[in-house]
Amino acid sequence: MTDSILAGTSLAGRAAGSLNYKQPMDRSHIEKISKALADGTRLKIFEAISASKCISCGEIVSMRGVTPATVSHHLKILNEAGLIACRREGQFVYSQAVPETIEAYTHALTRISTGKRTSRRRVLSHVIKCALATVCSQFLPFVVRASIFSQSTVPKASPNNSARPQLALTLDDPRLSLGLALKWPEANNRILKAISERDIRAALFVCGMPVDEADGIKLLSAWDQGGHLICNHSYSHKFYGEQTSYADFAADFLKNEKVIAPYRNR
Ligand SMILES: [Zn+2]
Repeated sequence: MTDSILAGTSLAGRAAGSLNYKQPMDRSHIEKISKALADGTRLKIFEAISASKCISCGEIVSMRGVTPATVSHHLKILNEAGLIACRREGQFVYSQAVPETIEAYTHALTRISTGKRTSRRRVLSHVIKCALATVCSQFLPFVVRASIFSQSTVPKASPNNSARPQLALTLDDPRLSLGLALKWPEANNRILKAISERDIRAALFVCGMPVDEADGIKLLSAWDQGGHLICNHSYSHKFYGEQTSYADFAADFLKNEKVIAPYRNR
């Protein structure tokens, strides 16, 4: 009985040993665990093992009233699924549960049951956290906005990535005066460094007035040379609507074209 359980498995249990909780569980492993738990007797055995810190085959046999051969068969399947780890001590084989496997399995099922939105949300929050943490949490005059576009709206999507969520990172309103101890060149460098290290190409939405001077050219040139898009966000950040007529808004918008005209990636 004992040899068949341990055949091909290390003491700690193959799946448990290689289980990395940060990595999503692959589908074949999810199926394996689902099958392992889909048998009534096996589920009861797993329950008994989980309830005890460490349990021998003999104890399981006496508890469940099943034959040693049946217990051996079920332990082998639970072990191969990474749900338990088996260890030999002399004549006896002891089993114990691997809670990390159930934890990873539960996460995997949650991801499946909530669909793609979960992973998109995770990617999105990761990008925002990276951007904010790396740059400077105090530095908020640049508004970081990340939005998810459907695949059809994203140009140059690599065919290899076609099934993956697509993200667009945009930043608004660069300015020279931050009202902080941090000066714009330092802030600008930190943002550019953070996104270029992650190989991200961003779009900078430039409102002209706060950067319409010699230093503004330096600021925008750094983005342009970094390969980021320079976009028109109007000259004076007017809000089209009740207070601004279309004619005023359009004139203000066109005025900003001159500010961003010198840049390659506009
Ligand atoms: Zn804005």
